[in-house]
Amino acid sequence: MNIHEYQAKELLAKYGVPVPAGHAAMSVDEAVAAAGKLPGPLWVVKSQIHAGGRGKGKFKELGPDAKGGVRLAHSVDEVRAHAEEMLGKTLVTIQTGPDGKQVQRLYITDGVDIAKEFYLALLVDRETGRIAIVASTEGGMDIEKVAHDTPDKIETFTIDPATGLMPHHGRAVAAALGLTGDLAKQATRVLAKLYDAFVGTDASQIEINPLAITDQQQLMVLDAKIGFDSNAAFRHPETEQLRDLTEEEPMEIEASKHDLAYIKLDGNIGCMVNGAGLAMATMDIIKLEGGEPANFLDVGGGASKEKVTAAFKIILSDASVKGILVNIFGGIMKCDIIAEGIVAAAREVSLNDPLVVRLEGTNVAEGKAILANSGLPIISADDLGDAARKIVAEVKQVEMA
Ligand code: GDP
Ligand code: MG
Repeated sequence: MNIHEYQAKELLAKYGVPVPAGHAAMSVDEAVAAAGKLPGPLWVVKSQIHAGGRGKGKFKELGPDAKGGVRLAHSVDEVRAHAEEMLGKTLVTIQTGPDGKQVQRLYITDGVDIAKEFYLALLVDRETGRIAIVASTEGGMDIEKVAHDTPDKIETFTIDPATGLMPHHGRAVAAALGLTGDLAKQATRVLAKLYDAFVGTDASQIEINPLAITDQQQLMVLDAKIGFDSNAAFRHPETEQLRDLTEEEPMEIEASKHDLAYIKLDGNIGCMVNGAGLAMATMDIIKLEGGEPANFLDVGGGASKEKVTAAFKIILSDASVKGILVNIFGGIMKCDIIAEGIVAAAREVSLNDPLVVRLEGTNVAEGKAILANSGLPIISADDLGDAARKIVAEVKQVEMA
């Protein structure tokens, strides 16, 4: 789960991380009022969308010469003008994809005079199973380019979970950023607070870009992106409050209500599978047969009839779906119960797309009989390869028709 920059900064401020003062605004009037509460003489008007690259982003409705999604203002009137121009518009950045995202919120912050911009991030490094610190002197708006062209300018350190953050990590980060004296001490303090925030909120990433040295020689977090580990969501009802549903896929929201793990993808074969590993294997084998999965969907171990129905509805609400592959291993759940669920769901949603079902496991014969006797045009498959071949062939026919 991701949150907006202003929420991330408010959260980090609670942990003592230095951020500029600022206020979120949903309207032009709120933006002007927010600017009035800040001292000036420089303000920053920042589009709040769940994507980075806003500074270099372009608004679809404005010309190519218009300013981007992060703008400096030298008066409250200028803040107003920017807010009027940005609110409600669609911002396209390298991270949003070509459709862009509508700007519904702004963040008005104190403008800071920047002497230098760094990159600093904490994330879960799956390879080492540790929290990693990523630091670079080349912060600012081109970090993707730095990572691509000059990866040696990005340094990574990992933190042993048994000891947690140690003073040597602070020294290593200060050295990586070329900081000495008081700035090195500030870097150590900022890092310690970011680490506390990371562990305290069960974050999966905290990305600070830029971490700036101001003209007053203070380190300040000017942009912050936080993602949370959804497996730990139950421990953090307070972060759940920060969700902005307008930033999420409607079908993914619906799926989360039914406790289904669903991720929309770009293909046309809807998949309903139990177990994340089997779901991955199913997607792989669809691709191997020349098809493209429309989604990842794990109905979980205890898939009830209600869950199967909800899953069907979610898959079918995706207009790009041209066929469905159900691949279920009946272990704890028996195949006959699952088959009943599939038949009931297919009837309830009056299914028109081809449906291939592969069942395996406990009571598989009874399950297959229920599918065969249902009177529904369900295509039964014997194994995973057979299922993938059948659904790919069916969908090809639908596309040609
Ligand atoms: P992003 O483009 O989505 O990463 O948005 P950022 O919040 O990082 O803003 C983009 C750029 O705007 C930053 O890299 C800074 O160079 C600049 N910027 C942001 N805040 C300030 C500020 O307070 N003062 C100045 N002078 N520039 C700022
Ligand atoms: Mg940034």
